[in-house]
Amino acid sequence: MLIVNDEQRLRAGIASLSKRCSYCSKALTAYPLIVSDEARVAVYHAACAAELATEILVDLYTFFRPPAPYQHLFVLDLRHTVPQEVRECSHRT
Ligand SMILES: [Zn+2]
Repeated sequence: MLIVNDEQRLRAGIASLSKRCSYCSKALTAYPLIVSDEARVAVYHAACAAELATEILVDLYTFFRPPAPYQHLFVLDLRHTVPQEVRECSHRT
């Protein structure tokens, strides 16, 4: 969730801008901020959230397409799976 003012920050449960970023541990100090919607609230500088997302994407890419000489740890093969009923997502919207 993007936070751009005090009202939004307070509604998100972030008491003050002196709280520390969950990524870099520096005080938030200014907007914009990003608040995760996970069970445990985490708040980030917008630039830190972008950096964290980029790191996750790079890690995922490396995991699924490891550079030589490394090989895949596994191969995902959906040909023999049985379709299951799609359950409703439990995330808040
Ligand atoms: Zn930060």
